[in-house]
Amino acid sequence: MNTSGVRVLAVDDDPVALLLYDRVLGDLVDLETHPDAESALEAYRREPAQILLLDWLLPGMDGLELTRQIRQIPDSEDVQILIVTGRDESDNLAQALEAGANDYLEKPVQPAHLKVRLEIAIRNLRILETKRQSERRGALMLQVFDNSLHGILITNTENRIIYTNRAFSRITGYAPEEALGEQPNFLSSGFHSAAFYDKMWHSVHEAGSWKGEIWNKRKDGEVYPEWLEIYTVLNESQELTNYMAHFVDISQKKQNEEQLRYLASYDTLTGLPNRSHFIEILSRALLKAREEKTRGAILYLDLDRFQVVNDTLSHGSGDLLLRDLSQRLRNLMGPTDVLSRTGGDEFAILLEIIDSVDEAVQIIERIKKDFASPFVVDGQEIYVSASTGICIFPDDGTDSDALLRNVDMAMYRAKESGRNTYHFYSPDTNTRAFEHLALEASLRRAIEKEEFVLFFQPLIDASTLKTIAAESLIRWNHPELGMVSPARFIPVAEETGLIVPMGKIVLKKACQTFVDLMNTNLGLEHIAVNVSARQFFQSGFLDEIDEVLASTNMPANSLELELTESAFIQDVDRTVELLDALRSRGIRLAIDDFGTGFSSLSYLKRFPLDTLKVDQSFVRDIHRSADDLAIVRAIIALASVMKLRIVGEGIETQDHSRILREEGCNILQGYLYARPMPAEELKTFLQESEHGLKGL
Ligand code: C2E
Ligand code: CA
Ligand code: CA
Repeated sequence: MNTSGVRVLAVDDDPVALLLYDRVLGDLVDLETHPDAESALEAYRREPAQILLLDWLLPGMDGLELTRQIRQIPDSEDVQILIVTGRDESDNLAQALEAGANDYLEKPVQPAHLKVRLEIAIRNLRILETKRQSERRGALMLQVFDNSLHGILITNTENRIIYTNRAFSRITGYAPEEALGEQPNFLSSGFHSAAFYDKMWHSVHEAGSWKGEIWNKRKDGEVYPEWLEIYTVLNESQELTNYMAHFVDISQKKQNEEQLRYLASYDTLTGLPNRSHFIEILSRALLKAREEKTRGAILYLDLDRFQVVNDTLSHGSGDLLLRDLSQRLRNLMGPTDVLSRTGGDEFAILLEIIDSVDEAVQIIERIKKDFASPFVVDGQEIYVSASTGICIFPDDGTDSDALLRNVDMAMYRAKESGRNTYHFYSPDTNTRAFEHLALEASLRRAIEKEEFVLFFQPLIDASTLKTIAAESLIRWNHPELGMVSPARFIPVAEETGLIVPMGKIVLKKACQTFVDLMNTNLGLEHIAVNVSARQFFQSGFLDEIDEVLASTNMPANSLELELTESAFIQDVDRTVELLDALRSRGIRLAIDDFGTGFSSLSYLKRFPLDTLKVDQSFVRDIHRSADDLAIVRAIIALASVMKLRIVGEGIETQDHSRILREEGCNILQGYLYARPMPAEELKTFLQESEHGLKGL
């Protein structure tokens, strides 16, 4: 046995005894001898020893008292204390053990005995040290367990809980004393089948471990998901001693996954299902409709001129508008209808079961009525309309892709036929939609190739029947399609922004034509040019006007700009600003298609206008519709209050003409007098009708 490095204190008042210790042990251990207890205690305090050899009887403090004193010093519990007694004192041994001594020797001390007793003491020391070490390891391990973020529980061979850590309590809500002695299944959520647990324990016993996701129940009753790993703990002989489980609460992770799924399925701006989510919902509805032989409808809404509206709004306000708008749409739907934002200004509505197509139309009417009242963004009133395509399923498409494609085409068709309307899909819509795309491409080319020409339609003074002005109307002479109506390509040009360069070409050509005619002295007061909202609100518009006026020598007061009502009310303040700027140059201003928009009088009063053009739709049936007549009367009354000239458009018959003149319309325009014509023809027309049109 290796004994070196073991510190031994020997105390005896008999120097001979100390000499003996020194002889026997001096070479074996690190020995220090003391003649009395006091100096020995001091020496121990200075440097603790592992073994003490104490004479029982000492002058001053005796061996027994020294033992007590030593034992009171911290960390001295393992010190091996041997009491050396005289033969007749052996009765006191019980007293010595009680005081904390470990062993004894009898005087006179036999060297052989001394060596053996010393060896035993050292062996005891070693055993104690191993025990302390494993105790320390255990304490350290528990500390590690306790600070682990994972919940840990350990059970015995009967699977009764013998240990739980702090995270266990934090996650489950149970204090250790509530869990100890229980079986872990006291946490069961009831979510899993008996077979699930059977399989789990089978794996623990066979493979020594199991891991997976499991739902457990907290003390407060909340069921939560955790990631659980269970191991068997075996001793050196490979016998099962414990089960150990550690787990993490993954409800947060689940929530994040949920959140991700939400983000992937919903539009963040409006909170509505997004396109991909809508397709999922639609696919399910389509399947169900086929199985149950029911019908459903998809409505596909595209906001009219939203790009233009958006351009006129301050940054971020377009978003506010969209949010507001989807809220209002949502309020118009039934609880089972699905509203989705499928793109920037596109919305889709799914009516899962309809009994008749009227239900789809009713929704659209509801939307139209609701949108008649303005949206208020940034304190501005904004009017919005939508063009809607409608598809019926399963009739109009075998899968969701085909349905969406078809409803999209139907929507374009609605756009083409004048916005704020709807269109049902029919197979021939296909070709129309294809044309739409082709149109956009060839429109770009047309600008470069100057395929546009201007036609002019005379405007007739109602009292003299003389031509006092002409409206310029664009015509597109397409190499293959021939003349394409502006009603078809202007909306596309607006959407794509091509209206801006196109508008400039029109303005310039119209001014040039007027300046040419001006020199013929044929009595033309002005020329009217249509300006689209997008063109009007584009930042360089005023500069462009100035440039054209200058380069063509056009007198500003012979130019009248026609703007539609809906363009005006998108941004009233900006409109007033722009109109004032135009007015200050002497340019005349007309409001076109009046009566179809939603102008309120308070706005109109703020606009510096010259002319108001009654929309053709009121003129068409004026001779047989009391409503239309009443509207035209109201418009004319309004115009006279505001001191505006009033133009009746679309006059095709003598009836139209007579009624409008009787009602006080100042200027007449329509096929009855003249169709739009090339500039050359206009010249001839002016010459022939110089003294007023005959017979009208
Ligand atoms: P608008 O400004 O209301 O133009 C009047 C439309 O009515 C013209 O159609 C004209 O040909 C048509 N019209 C005239 N008299 C009659 C009639 O007695 N009966 C009928 N049924 N129609 C008549 P057009 O030329 O097809 O233009 C359609 C629309 O396209 C215009 O409506 C205008 O909004 C737009 N547009 C035409 N040229 C331009 C242009 O240069 N720039 C812009 N931004 N828009 C234009
Ligand atoms: Ca016009
Ligand atoms: Ca018009």
